[in-house]
Amino acid sequence: MLHKVLVANRGEIAVRIIRACQEMGIRTVIAYSEADRDSLAVRLADEAVCIGPAAPARSYLNPPALISAAMITGCDAIHPGYGFLSENAYFAEICAECNLAFVGPDAETIRRMGDKAVGRRTMQASGVPIIPGSDGELRNADEAIDVARTIGYPVLLKPSGGGGGRGMRVANDEAELLKTYPTARSEAEAAFGRGDLILEKYLPRVRHIEIQVLADAYGNAIHLGERDCSMQRRHQKIVEESPSPMVNSDLRARMGTAALRGVETIRYVNAGTMEFLVDPDGNYYFIEMNTRIQVEHPVTEMVSRIDLVKWQLRIASGERLTLNQKDVRMRGHAIECRINAEDPVRDFLPSAGEVEFYLPPGGPGVRVDSHLYAGYTLPSAYDSLLAKIITWGDDREEALERMRRALHECIITGIPTTIPFQMALIDDYVFRSGDISTGYLAEMLRKWKEQALFGGES
Ligand code: ADP
Repeated sequence: MLHKVLVANRGEIAVRIIRACQEMGIRTVIAYSEADRDSLAVRLADEAVCIGPAAPARSYLNPPALISAAMITGCDAIHPGYGFLSENAYFAEICAECNLAFVGPDAETIRRMGDKAVGRRTMQASGVPIIPGSDGELRNADEAIDVARTIGYPVLLKPSGGGGGRGMRVANDEAELLKTYPTARSEAEAAFGRGDLILEKYLPRVRHIEIQVLADAYGNAIHLGERDCSMQRRHQKIVEESPSPMVNSDLRARMGTAALRGVETIRYVNAGTMEFLVDPDGNYYFIEMNTRIQVEHPVTEMVSRIDLVKWQLRIASGERLTLNQKDVRMRGHAIECRINAEDPVRDFLPSAGEVEFYLPPGGPGVRVDSHLYAGYTLPSAYDSLLAKIITWGDDREEALERMRRALHECIITGIPTTIPFQMALIDDYVFRSGDISTGYLAEMLRKWKEQALFGGES
């Protein structure tokens, strides 16, 4: 087993990793930036090393600073969490060269799956359905037009090296595609350092369903069912749940098998997520693989009672996966609401500042993953995730009722949060019905804003 782990991240996920390590008797070192000196992770870890100034490029995205922090403190592994360097093949490579176990797959796998064009090709070759689109990266606008003519409009331009829902552009016809192409390229270049684009058929009325997998270095792999992440704002997830209200056992088994086929093809090791879009007829299409722990992993943990972060650490230390597919028994229903330091009435404007008072919800079936405490000053340099409230129930109805109670119980003062919007969302009758697609949240948001701003009927 690992002896000492450097946590190369911040916020709630750093706390989550430290907690798992503590329960396993693994010592922890938190690498923190100057802006995170007073963070909860610094208080909870066994040791803390300052790795540089607030700007991520000079701290959390700076491999030499992180590697030296791990070396001087005698760590034998680095957990990258999500975001930052978690899907950076170069970082995984240097960790390996420095004899530090990278808690994730190897550099080659990260490189392969981090590229949507390569990911698509690889999955297609292993028989996993993909969305009709370009074979690889588009060479120019003419090729985009050619592909679009074959598959039909609307189409979606996507940065091949993208993530976080950024830089995607829909085109409804040829004129729009021609106009959008250069903009999409320069946006991708600015956001991800490379302008490569792929083109896919834009599927309306789909759900985002992803399959969690766990695989060891000896060829053993299992899937832990699905998460439904269809409630999205600008392609970013807001609420996640497991199981999906629209996935039956047959579809679950088929998608699970497809995900495992993908895992086998690339000899994937560690925790990973295969993301799919599913249409109303139950056809599913691979969109991408995330080679790291995901923000929404707790919903899977709640229904499977399998600790994904602990398994990540065991697998990284070379242990075998002792769970078989038949050991995975899902129970009940879990929902996660992401609470962000954003003002939903002002177009989700992010804010920073001091958290004056904090009262997390509790009671049966409630889990809160957060790095908040009263008096904590939220730095402005990082993303706005404050807390994840996860509720579990015997069925969806109970999980939702518990979520409603938890959101009402939760008090965070001093900064605006997305709690008021989440409350409305939990009570929204369409969301309650379970019959939604990835476009629904935008529609719901419009209705909610009118009511929040004008208090009127809509
Ligand atoms: P990223 O890596 O930036 O998160 P993804 O490929 O995972 O991008 O897609 C993010 C979201 O964008 C999906 O969950 C879905 O809502 C939407 N999306 C992606 N591809 C398509 C598509 N071909 N048709 C319709 N919606 C899509």
